[in-house]
Parts: sequence; C-alpha cells; structure tokens
Amino acid sequence: MSDYTKPLPDIEDPTSAPYWAGAKAHKLVMQRCPNCSYVRFPPKKVCPECLTFSDNWVELPPNGVLQSYVTYDHAFDPRFQDDLPYTVGYIKLDDGPRTYGTLLGDRKDFAIGARVRAVFDDVTPDATLVRWELAS
Ligand SMILES: [Zn+2]
Repeated sequence: MSDYTKPLPDIEDPTSAPYWAGAKAHKLVMQRCPNCSYVRFPPKKVCPECLTFSDNWVELPPNGVLQSYVTYDHAFDPRFQDDLPYTVGYIKLDDGPRTYGTLLGDRKDFAIGARVRAVFDDVTPDATLVRWELAS
C-alpha cells in the first residue's frame, strides 16, 4: 500500500487511460487525430479541429517551453502543506499541445521561455504523474 495521500487521477477512465498507461511506462503519449493530425490534450473523444471521433495514441518527445508558472505559498488543500512552496507550470510541448504540471526545482531558477522536460513520478504502484524540470 502506498503512503501517497494526495489526489490521484482516474487512470481507468477510458478517454484518458492510454495517457496514464504511457506515463506509467515513462512515456508522454497523447492523441493524434487520424484525419487532420492535430495533437490534442487533455484527452477528448472528439478532435476539436475536425470533429472526428477517432484517435491514434502517439509518443511525443517529452520536451517543451515554460510559458507561464505560479508558485503556491499557501496550501488550498491541506494534503499539499508539506510541499510548500511548490510551482505549477504551463508548458507548450514542442509538438504542439499545452499542459500544466508541477515544476521541480527552485522557483528562483524558473523563467518564461525556459526549456523543460518531463519527469515521471511513480507516486503509487499504479499511478505515475508527469512533472517537469528545467532542461539542462
Ligand atoms: Zn482532426
């Protein structure tokens, strides 16, 4: 039994399960539309560009650019109290989609436009969360 007590994703949700299975394998996978090639995130049943109800899950390079970030000095959920301060970044992947995630490291080192890469954090035997760190 894991001692991880923070909220966990529903890794069995059929729409997003492939994303979480990819994370567990330490891969960043997202949906690419078989009709128009648009890569979408978060997972959706329909392509927002061409309305096709289909997808191909593809592995993407786990690299992107930090477009914005915020550091939390107050825990709105007490389960995050021991993490303070922590930073959440808004990342534009090199292959297009944007995502949010916890940034690992010291906030004084973060800067808009910085290169970041995914880090896969096995928080329980079943769940792996995608976090981000500055690319060196
Ligand atoms: Zn499409």
